[in-house]
Amino acid sequence: MRKAVAILSILLFILALHATSYAYSGNIVVDGKVVNYNVPDITITIDGNKFDTGNNPPLILDGNTIVPLRSIGQGLGASVNWDGSTQTITVTKGKVFKFFIGKNYATVDGNKVQLPAPARLINNNTSYVPMRFLFESLGYDVKWIGDKYLIQVTSKVTVPPTSSNVNITDFSSSYANGKYTITVKADGPLTYKQGTINDSSGVRLYFDFSNAINAVTNKQISINQGGLNMAYIGQNQLQPAITRLVVSMTTSLPYTITQSQDKKEFDISFNIGNNSSSSNNGPLIYIDPGHGGSDPGAIGVGGIHEANIALAIGLKLKTLLDNGGFRTMISRTTDTYVGLYDRPDQANNAGADAFVSIHCDAFDSPSANGTTVLYYPNGYNGDTRDEKTFAQIIHDNLMKEINTTDRGLSERPKLVVLNQTKMVAVLVETGFVTSPTDAQLLTDDNFQWKIAQGIYNGLVQYFTELKNGTIKSTIS
Ligand SMILES: [Zn+2]
Repeated sequence: MRKAVAILSILLFILALHATSYAYSGNIVVDGKVVNYNVPDITITIDGNKFDTGNNPPLILDGNTIVPLRSIGQGLGASVNWDGSTQTITVTKGKVFKFFIGKNYATVDGNKVQLPAPARLINNNTSYVPMRFLFESLGYDVKWIGDKYLIQVTSKVTVPPTSSNVNITDFSSSYANGKYTITVKADGPLTYKQGTINDSSGVRLYFDFSNAINAVTNKQISINQGGLNMAYIGQNQLQPAITRLVVSMTTSLPYTITQSQDKKEFDISFNIGNNSSSSNNGPLIYIDPGHGGSDPGAIGVGGIHEANIALAIGLKLKTLLDNGGFRTMISRTTDTYVGLYDRPDQANNAGADAFVSIHCDAFDSPSANGTTVLYYPNGYNGDTRDEKTFAQIIHDNLMKEINTTDRGLSERPKLVVLNQTKMVAVLVETGFVTSPTDAQLLTDDNFQWKIAQGIYNGLVQYFTELKNGTIKSTIS
């Protein structure tokens, strides 16, 4: 045994030549036997602070790091009692731990637990036990940083009690009236965080349900319609428990989330149309995301570009219209420059039924905010279009979806996209990129969907009323 310790000591010495200090070396008495000890000094830190065990430093014996029981136990708030007659040390902190000198087991509340090395009596007066077992018993996490001879001890992160977890009991889907709905049910209220992953394989929406244990067996639903690929659910993490719902789709689709009053049911619905395979034959809408490429438009809070926001909203509007049976054209699908006159020209040449230009406002003062719908004045310069009715319907439907400041309608005879177009046209100033509150909304994916949804609803109403004969596209 002595030889083994000596060889180990030499080995550790060679391995740790760079270590700085050997304050504790020479002969020590281990369980009554003299041992030559020559190992670099070992440091203990507890939550980053050095913990000094005084004249009884941590030791490495037979490859096991052992630490003085009393100074550490008491330092960490346990009571420590030594019974010399039975060579037993009792440590109490929540549970009762008993260590026995020379024995490689302990008892925890009376139950025997194996130790990696026996409890030792050093220099005939100080009991030592394996460091990891002791710190973990007292509610700490331990890391041994070998190259620094450092025992790094940290308070355990408290995990929420498992009783606060809910069980996910149902994962299902349904389809009705063009709406595809994915449902998650639990035996308690569901709370969640959501996110989106975009990569070459498409778009994945995910919802992380907090403190939720996944208890369903059907973990995957194949959808494969209207751009929706599949949905699946699984345990993402156990402590704390997080169950993740993922919906994968080929492109970003609009959705609505509803939860029951008691929050035990979570529904996400996608409007994928009645028959996504048949080609659209509805009115032709020309969507015009403003600016682009070398023309970023207004630059707002945090350097955001009007052109990028307009494009994001325009593409969402296109998705809604495509799924809703409309035919669509769009002036750009990427951040590219399109000439100002090219936009109305394209719409005119294609015989579009309506023209929707999407922009953001800007002003010197950050206090200016809100949403405005611009249109060409009825009858101006002999124009025969009923622009005001169209603008009013778009405006009213848009403001039902969003709660920005309502700046109403505004007549703009000089705007090219309004005076060169031959069909009904609006220019929607969705919000001010220079307003901190508007800017935050405008860059939010969900808010962009709401704007698109509002404009979409307006277009649906306009063309329904046109068909019903309750309105006309021209003034008479
Ligand atoms: Zn603009």
